[in-house]
This record gives sequence, C-alpha cells and structure tokens, in this order.
Amino acid sequence: RPRVLSGIQPTADSFHFGNYLGALRQWVDLQDEHEPFFFVADLHAITVEQDPKVLRQRTRRAAAQLLAMGVDPERSAVFVQSQVPAHAQLGWVLQCLTGFGEARRMTQFKDKSAKGGEGAASVGLFTYPVLQAADVLLYRPAFVPVGEDQRQHLELTRDLAQRFNSRYKKTFRLPEPYILKATAKILDLQDPARKMSKSASSPAGIVDMLDDPKASAKKVRSAVTDSETEVRFDPEAKPGVSNLLTIFSALTGTGVDELVQRYDGQGYGALKGDLADAVVEVVTPFRDRTLALLDDAAHLDAVLADGAARAGEVAERTLADVYDRVGFLPGG
Ligand code: ATP
Ligand code: MG
Repeated sequence: RPRVLSGIQPTADSFHFGNYLGALRQWVDLQDEHEPFFFVADLHAITVEQDPKVLRQRTRRAAAQLLAMGVDPERSAVFVQSQVPAHAQLGWVLQCLTGFGEARRMTQFKDKSAKGGEGAASVGLFTYPVLQAADVLLYRPAFVPVGEDQRQHLELTRDLAQRFNSRYKKTFRLPEPYILKATAKILDLQDPARKMSKSASSPAGIVDMLDDPKASAKKVRSAVTDSETEVRFDPEAKPGVSNLLTIFSALTGTGVDELVQRYDGQGYGALKGDLADAVVEVVTPFRDRTLALLDDAAHLDAVLADGAARAGEVAERTLADVYDRVGFLPGG
C-alpha cells in the first residue's frame, strides 16, 4: 500500500472548516487504501510564540480531534512531531541544501511575517518549509493530502528531494500533492478575499469545529456575501456566496449545481439557514466525541506514544541512509 503523510499545527484550540474540508477529511478517506502517517506539528507551532501550557493542551486537543474525525490509530500512525527526533535532524540536513533565495520565495512566509514585519519574524518561521520537506521525505510517501496553500511548499519538497538524490544517491521518493480542487481553499466568512486561517482569521470569519454549534450556526448566517440576491456559483464575482455553496456541497454531498437550482429565487437567507443546520449536524457529534477523548488523557497519550514508535522506526531508517550518504560517521 502506498504511503501517505500529512500534518497539522496545534496553533488553535480547534480545527476549522478549512482544515477539515481542505485536508483532514481526505486523511480519513485515504486510510482505506494507503499506509498513513499523520502528525501534530508542534515543532512548526513554535515558529511563532506559544504559551507552553497552552501548546501542550492544544497538541492533545489536535490529536483528539483527529481521532474524533475518524483517523483510526489501528490503520494510521498518529503521532506528535517532537516525539520523533528524526524530523528535526533531517530538517537540518535539508536546510544546508536549501538556497537562501529559494526559501525567500515562499509566499507563506511573506504572508505570515507581514503583520509584525520581517525583522520580528523568527528564523524558524523562515525555514519552516524546509522542516516540512523533512517531515514528508522521511516517510517516502506517494501522496501528501493538503490544502492549496501548501502547494508551493510541496514543490520545494520535491526540489530538495531531487537535489539530494542527484548530489548523493537516490534516497527520497518525489511525493505528489493530493489536493481536492473543490475544497482546496475555504474562505474566511467575513473576508472572502482571504483563506480561512487559524492564526489570521477574525473569530467571526472562522467556523471552528469545536465551537458551540449555535455560535457556528450564527456565524454562517452572518457570513458576508454581496449586494445582489441571486444564488449563483461564481468564485470571481461572488466569492462569499460561492464559498458557502462549496462548504454546503462538501458537507452534504449535494452537487453545487443542484444547490444553485434549489435556492434559485429564494435569496441568500434560505441558503444560509439550511447551511447553518447542516453545520450543526456535523459539528455536534464531532464535538461530543472529541470531548470524550480528551477526558481520557492517558489513553490519548498512549495512542500517540504508539504512533511515535511506529513512525520513528520508518523515519530512523531514512535518516540513517541520509547520514551515511552525507558522510557522517556510523553508529551515532
Ligand atoms: P495557521 O494559520 O496557523 O497556518 P492553518 O489554518 O493554515 O493554520 P495549518 O495547520 O497550517 O492550518 O494547515 C493544516 C492543513 O489545513 C493544511 O493541509 C492546509 O493546507 C489546510 N488548510 C488550512 N487552511 C485551509 C483553508 N482555508 N482551506 C483549505 N485547506 C486549508
Ligand atoms: Mg497554515
């Protein structure tokens, strides 16, 4: 079975609908025919300042949400990044293979450092795409299920893999991004020019999976649309309404065209009301499952320890090949 690998940062108390529809749902589906490695990216989280207590809590919350979503620890190695040291170790080797200008071109860095200014951003934030390349390459996966914002990083990952392979010896598999077009970029409900984001969206713009379902319903009903009334799928001219149609279609499995017909002549209110109901139906049981998992921290930690052991075995083997090929002494 081909391997798949993906990660998510514990940078908020809850995942949001962008994470869920853009990436996490695919994680669950890919388990059937692949060998999956899924991790909580705590090393990435500290590229911006984190409160240690909050980070620990959010790491467990992230893991609980993955399980609640349907990631099955029998079939998938679910682990926390910092518990597999090979990630940081390969990250260093790959940093030494990355050009400064090449790292500079990463648009996520430009976006994320825009607020405080580049001078205030950490070097870790600058090099995080390289660590991400290490995360992926250690497992030699065929596919990496992510949202559209990660496409550029995956290109870098492939470039670095290729560079290492040709400079030393074929070691890494070149992974393919696995991006579902329809849901690759879920937009902020209040600012549909931007993607929904854990760290950048305003509370009203982001629908959190663990929010009080009533609050989420209200956010959907107050989503920014436009001054027309016609329900039509047109991401360029009507990004707000099109985003709602995308979310609705993904949640219910009803095609966008069918939804457009259904709400023809009814205005935005009916669409928003029904979508709000659909959201409540999805998040209510999800939230209950997550909270139950969080009640048993010992079980959760045991699942993660098992995941780290399974992932570590694979990662260590790749790292040993890399260290050998780079010219490090054996037996470290
Ligand atoms: P942050 O703002 O801290 O970067 P994030 O919301 O971007 O958080 P990540 O942990 O960086 O979340 O990303 C986890 C996964 O979710 C990635 O595969 C990413 O591509 C995907 N993703 C994030 N936001 C969206 C979105 N709005 N639409 C679709 N996919 C998304
Ligand atoms: Mg992100």
